[in-house]
Amino acid sequence: MKKDTIVANATPLIPSAVGIVRISGEDALKIGKQIFTLPQEIQERKAYFGKILDLDGSVLDEGLFIYFKAPKSFTGEDVVEIYPHGSVPVIKKIIENVITLGGRLANPGEFTYRAFLNGKIDLTQAEAIADLISAKTEKASKAAVRLLEGKLSEKINSLRETLLNLISLIEAEINFPEDVEEIDSQLIVENLLKVKKSIDKLVGSYKKGSLIKEGIKLAIVGRPNVGKSSLFNAMVGYERSIVSSYQGTTRDFIEETLKIKDIPIILLDTAGIRETAEYVEKLGIERSKQKIEEADIILFVIDGSQGFTDEDKKIYDEIKNKIHIIVINKADLITKPLDIFEKSDNIIYTSSVTFQGIKDLEEKIIEILGITETEDEIIINLRHYTLLKQAIEKIEKVVENIDFLIENKEILMLDLQEVLNYLEEIVGHITTEDVLGNIFSKFCIGK
Ligand code: GDP
Ligand code: ZN
Repeated sequence: MKKDTIVANATPLIPSAVGIVRISGEDALKIGKQIFTLPQEIQERKAYFGKILDLDGSVLDEGLFIYFKAPKSFTGEDVVEIYPHGSVPVIKKIIENVITLGGRLANPGEFTYRAFLNGKIDLTQAEAIADLISAKTEKASKAAVRLLEGKLSEKINSLRETLLNLISLIEAEINFPEDVEEIDSQLIVENLLKVKKSIDKLVGSYKKGSLIKEGIKLAIVGRPNVGKSSLFNAMVGYERSIVSSYQGTTRDFIEETLKIKDIPIILLDTAGIRETAEYVEKLGIERSKQKIEEADIILFVIDGSQGFTDEDKKIYDEIKNKIHIIVINKADLITKPLDIFEKSDNIIYTSSVTFQGIKDLEEKIIEILGITETEDEIIINLRHYTLLKQAIEKIEKVVENIDFLIENKEILMLDLQEVLNYLEEIVGHITTEDVLGNIFSKFCIGK
C-alpha cells in the first residue's frame, strides 16, 4: 500500500532566523521539486541553495533544500527538508502548497511514528524524542538522550537474551525429552534472579526519574508567624512572599520554582492552618490543605523561640504521616536545642535572619529524595516502569512456584514467555495500536 506523504513545520511557529519544513513519503521529492528551483538531477544529502516558489511560480523566499533518500532518512522514507527564513506566513504558505500538491498535514509524532514503523528506532527511542522535547531540566534531557542512544534498549535486550536462552532450553526438553538433559530448577532460579536484580535497579530509578522530570513539590506548613514566608524567601533567595509580623497575612499559597542540584523544586508557602472565622482566609486555608495533600515533602515549621506549642502539635498530627522535615526556625533566638521530638533525623535548625541552616535544609531535601549522582540508566517513563514492575511480579511468582513448575514445563514456558513479553513491549516488539496511539499522540506536530 502506498503511504501518503506528510508535511509539517519542524520548528516552533515563531519568527526566527531559519524555519524547517519537513516532507516525508513517496511523493516528497516530486512535490519538493515543484516548489523549489533545483538542478535537473539532484544528489541525496546535499544542501541546495535556491528559490522557494509559490504555486503560480512567483518567489516566496529563498533558502536551502535537502533530499534524504529512503531508507537513509529519519523516517526511513524519502524525506525533503526545506529551510526558508523563519517567517510564519512563508512557512504556512509552503505547507499549504505541499498539501495542494498532494501532501497531508502530519499528525503529532507522525514522523517519529513512521521512523518506528520502518525500524529506524525502537519504541524507547521514539519516546525519548518526546521526553527530550518536553524536558524541563538538563538532567531530564540527559536521561532522555541516553534513552535516545538506545542505552535502555541495550539493557533490556540483554535481559531478553537470558530469558530466551532459558525458554529455548525448556522448549528443547519438552520437544525432545529423550535427547536433552533435564533442566535443573536451580539454574532457572539463578538466571531469573539475575534478571530480576537488573530490573529492580531500573524500577528503583523511576522515582528519581519522575522527580527529575516533573520537579518536587515542597509545601511549607505551620501555624501563623513561625516564619514560613521568611523561610520561603530565604530559600528562594529574594523577597517574593509577603512577610508580615501580623498573623494570617499569607491568605493563599504562593509558589516559586527553584533548583537544588539541578532538581526543580516547586516551593509552596501556605496560609497558616488554623481555625478562623474570616472568610477570605478560610478559603486560602482550604486551598492550602489541598496543596499539602499534593506535596511530595512537607517542611513543617515551628518557632524555635516558642517551643513546640499545642497548636504546633495539632498541625503536626495532620502532616506527620507524610514525608516531612521538621524545621525549627528562628534558631537565632534560641540558645539551646529544643527537646521536643523524641528522635528524628529529619530536624533542621534554621534562621531566616542569619540564613543559618538553609543549606543544610536543602541537602536534607536531596537526601530524603535519595537522589545520588550516577551514570546508570534512569527510568523516566511511566510505561516502561509499569511493564518492568509487571515483569518483576511474574518472575517472583515463578521463583516461588518453581517446584511445581519444574514438573509442569508447559506452564513454566508460558510464564517465562509472559516475562519476556513485558520486556518486548518496552522496546516495541509487541505493541497494540492503543499503546502506540497513546505514545505518539503526546508529540508535537513536526516530530
Ligand atoms: P509566617 O506567618 O509563618 O509566614 O511568618 P513570617 O515569615 O511572616 O514571619 C513572622 C515574623 O517572624 C516576622 O516578623 C519575621 O521577621 C519573623 N521571623 C521569621 N523568621 C525569623 C527568624 O529566623 N529569626 C527571627 N529572629 N525572626 C524571624
Ligand atoms: Zn506567611
